[in-house]
Amino acid sequence: MDTQILSGKVVSTAVYQALESRISELQSKSIKPGLAVILVGEDSASRIYVNSKSKKFSDLGLHSETTQLPENVSQNTLLSLVRSLNKNKNFHGILVQFPLPKHIDNEVIINAIDPIKDVDGFHPVNQGHLAIGKPTIIPCTPKGIMRILEHYNIDLSGKHVVVVGRSNIVGRPISILTSLKGSFSNATVTICHSGTKNISDHTLQADVVILALGYPEFLTSKDIKDGAVVIDVGINRIEDNSEKGYKLVGDGKATSLNGKASAYTPVPGGVGPMTIAMLVENTIEAAERTV
Ligand code: NDP
Repeated sequence: MDTQILSGKVVSTAVYQALESRISELQSKSIKPGLAVILVGEDSASRIYVNSKSKKFSDLGLHSETTQLPENVSQNTLLSLVRSLNKNKNFHGILVQFPLPKHIDNEVIINAIDPIKDVDGFHPVNQGHLAIGKPTIIPCTPKGIMRILEHYNIDLSGKHVVVVGRSNIVGRPISILTSLKGSFSNATVTICHSGTKNISDHTLQADVVILALGYPEFLTSKDIKDGAVVIDVGINRIEDNSEKGYKLVGDGKATSLNGKASAYTPVPGGVGPMTIAMLVENTIEAAERTV
């Protein structure tokens, strides 16, 4: 079977093109969508993510500003910064890059962000709206996955979707989005996690498998039925002999899935670019709501 590559690069390019007129419209009203990013500590992967987000904002003529705080910053200092950004009219979105150091309570920080500026969609108010089927700000990665499916005309209605992973940023929200009543969703959804016995018993039943567990090359051809679609969210570093000393692989084993899956998202170049595109879109939407 020919396996179609579902390219997040292609879909994100279309998203940015569609956003151009909305950016111009805001600019005509003297509004420049702005994102405030908070980065704590020196985690190299986090630094790479923040840099690529900032670069995309600047390429599009949007405003983004990163505040770098030391690893040992106190929770109160971080909270004060979030509260001052909530009031700052130059920023329509606030993004706190995770992971945070262990002495900081993620939940306290997320809860401090004004829900209307929560462009990551992690605040309980936004997660709650999604859970009751009335999404407002949708977390970027799950939103990006839905866009990929729509772009490639993969309608989930009546299909069986198996999600592996139940985090609040990927697994749980994508399980809700895919099961909502509406176009391209309306699926029957199974969620697997570390407490699930024999995950392949479930993935073998799936029309679409969504992998968000963070376990390199977990899923292979023997775990899916012929023609299943595989959406691979995982980004895992594994050591190799390259100059960098590592390569990025997904939660699926691409070489094995190729030929058995009808379509899959590559890593890199699949879901990753869509996460950034949806962050841009969420920030523009937040700016539009201020008009
Ligand atoms: P988390 O660690 O927060 O959640 C992982 C989930 O997978 C948990 O629900 C966990 O179960 C489950 N899990 C872990 N190991 C297993 C296993 N062996 N079998 C079954 N279930 C398992 O991760 P995230 O959701 O934040 O991220 C998942 C992956 O996606 C990571 O590789 C991350 O780097 C990547 N990612 C990629 C993005 C992108 O833009 N492409 C954006 C965000 C994340 P339990 O709940 O029981 O602990």
